[in-house]
Amino acid sequence: MKGTVLYGPGDIRFEDRETPKIIEPTDAVLRLAATCVCGSDLWPYRGLQPIDGPTPMGHEYCGFVEEVGSAVKSVKPGQFVVGSFATSDNTCAHCRYGYQSSCIHREFMLRAQAPFLRVPLADGTLVPTPGGMPSDGLVPSLLTCSDVLGTGWFAADAANVKPGGTVVVVGDGAVGLLGVLSAKQMGAERIIAISRHEARQKLAREFGATDIVAERGDEAVARIKDMTKGIGADSVLECVGTQESMMQAVGATRPGGYVGYVGVPHGVELNGEQLFFTHDHLHGGPAPVRRYLPKLIDLVLNGVINPGKVFDLTLPLDQVAEGYRAMDERRAIKTLLRP
Ligand SMILES: [Zn+2]
Repeated sequence: MKGTVLYGPGDIRFEDRETPKIIEPTDAVLRLAATCVCGSDLWPYRGLQPIDGPTPMGHEYCGFVEEVGSAVKSVKPGQFVVGSFATSDNTCAHCRYGYQSSCIHREFMLRAQAPFLRVPLADGTLVPTPGGMPSDGLVPSLLTCSDVLGTGWFAADAANVKPGGTVVVVGDGAVGLLGVLSAKQMGAERIIAISRHEARQKLAREFGATDIVAERGDEAVARIKDMTKGIGADSVLECVGTQESMMQAVGATRPGGYVGYVGVPHGVELNGEQLFFTHDHLHGGPAPVRRYLPKLIDLVLNGVINPGKVFDLTLPLDQVAEGYRAMDERRAIKTLLRP
């Protein structure tokens, strides 16, 4: 088969790779129905995160079980499954507390921008869709459950979004937009999205944003304070991972409020004394997507949410390099790839 490999900044190649096979008895091999490019893939693509030689790419996936190892019990060949970007046994203490992305046996998935994928710990990582094969039209939305929606959902959950609450979402990438959708599902009354891009503002409104702030940095914080009678927001979702976005999130939160931060931090430093006087709750990290998968799959299959709308570019998998370019140049919010 061919798969996606990053060689260096801006250098994505779709090249011959070994077709994955069962290695451990707890593995499954999937034939992917769809995969995609993640905002976090852009960090190494832009040279902002060093790589150790040619690196196979991709960690968002859904598709058909092709083969399972001898110890796998809960998934069977032929089933349609969605899995998390982090593997988990779903039985250790961290998993039982709901933090499967800190599983003691965790591996971060790689190599998913390919037609076939080996998934370790299949029983604890993969969730089959109930009722068999979903219609092809639902595949993009099911794919979002694997990371981008699961991460937006965790941001809202970690930010303690409650019915009637006021929410700010920092970041208008796919995670931020699906954070808006998640906050709406959790009953937020007011959802303020920070965005200066018209297409993204429109999608944010479609997903449930009630207000848009186009300012940045301290000006955005001042504007949000203004909009909330000087109080600040109950819940702020930080979906970028830069110093500026983190400070915006902390600044926009009311004393006693919550910041859910899911943007992978790059060079973020927090001042302890400053933080002390904010009274903020901070909760974030790699999203425990596995915890949310059954619920999110259910919401998609029942037509309650349509998170697949974040894909505004669909390409055949062999054009993956163009998919990265389009996202890097912000011509696309998120690229769906079909093998
Ligand atoms: Zn575990």
